[in-house]
Amino acid sequence: MTFPEQVHVPDEVLGIIRTLEDAGHESWCVGGAIRDALLGLDGEAADYDVATAAHPEVVLALFPHTVAVGLRYGTVGVLDKDRVLHEVTTFRHDVATDGRHAEVVFGASLDEDLARRDFTINAIAYHPLRHEWRDLFEGAQDLDRKLIRAVGTPAERFREDYLRILRAIRFCARLEFTIDRATWYAAKEEIEGLRGLSAERVRDEWFKGLRTTRSVTRLVKLWTSIGAAPIWLPELLHSEGDSVERTGAESTADRDPVVLTTLVCVDPVAVLQRLKASNQEIARAVALVTGPHEPDGSGTVATRRWLAAVNDAADDLAALWQARNRAPFPWAATVREILERGDPLTRADLAIGGNDVVALGVAAGPAWVTCWTSSPKTPRSQRSSTSTQSATTRTSTSSTRARTIASDRPLQTWTYRWTTFRRSPA
Ligand code: ATP
Ligand code: MG
Repeated sequence: MTFPEQVHVPDEVLGIIRTLEDAGHESWCVGGAIRDALLGLDGEAADYDVATAAHPEVVLALFPHTVAVGLRYGTVGVLDKDRVLHEVTTFRHDVATDGRHAEVVFGASLDEDLARRDFTINAIAYHPLRHEWRDLFEGAQDLDRKLIRAVGTPAERFREDYLRILRAIRFCARLEFTIDRATWYAAKEEIEGLRGLSAERVRDEWFKGLRTTRSVTRLVKLWTSIGAAPIWLPELLHSEGDSVERTGAESTADRDPVVLTTLVCVDPVAVLQRLKASNQEIARAVALVTGPHEPDGSGTVATRRWLAAVNDAADDLAALWQARNRAPFPWAATVREILERGDPLTRADLAIGGNDVVALGVAAGPAWVTCWTSSPKTPRSQRSSTSTQSATTRTSTSSTRARTIASDRPLQTWTYRWTTFRRSPA
């Protein structure tokens, strides 16, 4: 690959580099954004990492709005005028590593800094003011060859930080590259080192992998074949290659990591607990496992019952259904109609309770177990005033309640949907 004359770098990043250079500190763009720009994936580049000779305290002093992202590792977040954060990291080299943390020192050169990076394709530097390139490890050639290759001796690099094994898998799946032979075998040899990683770092890699891979099947196969799955995701082993392929995990439309973890693991709740996912993510997985996974019939009544049963999990369950069946969720239109119309789904959605019905003159008795009432003009999403009102009326006597309802709402315009269940004789 011959390097392009120039690479487009956002003005905000250029401004940061200019400020640093004007103050006498050599500064370059390095990492993912440069790699992606060379691959023509500019649209996907989320962040331009700046590497600089300036020490963190100098960076903090040079910019008015900064965030101490990881001062120990030399990273300062510089906020631009739109409050967007750009990471600026001081050139550094590792003095000690234990496979999960590094002890770094500043005062390194750009070349030393590039040498501590994980893969050759991530170790290309570009100077956006001078339009110079630095590619000490033939990263551009590896981009051409579609190869993930460790910088330096692979086994040593993995022993410094075992997360690099999972990063190799992620880049391989996202870019549809292959992993260089020596790098692949070293990763397999060193795989036991993954046990020492923190669950949070592994989770971030797994989630990022699911979000960015071209094919979820490929990612799953890589986790399995390199030997990472038995250590962190044994539940993946039960997804035999074929069945994962048949799950429809290839769709790039829904890349929600909780839904996808549920799709490809036999016990997603156990997986997410092990990976220390948030309580909310674990609760979503529980709901995805519990179901019911689809309405028990095709009509409105069945769909409404399903919505009432699954509550907030409806969107997740529909996404899971779509991924599993590789087809649009057949009940989507009915769900939309129900929600737009504002049909009550739970007792709390009802505008009135049983006592109100009695107060309106309906004979009390065991025959009336449930009474559904709804105002079709009030969509569910706009029901807050209704629920406030029913909360207030609940504390009043039934006759006051009847009056409140009668005076606040034109009863005659309401639609009443009555469901009676006669108790079966004992
Ligand atoms: P993306 O942002 O798309 O995930 P990236 O390559 O930008 O990919 P980052 O995690 O943002 O990845 O890291 C920026 C750069 O820092 C990398 O390109 C690489 O040069 C270096 N880097 C990040 N993590 C490590 C690591 N664990 N070991 C060595 N170098 C790393
Ligand atoms: Mg990045």
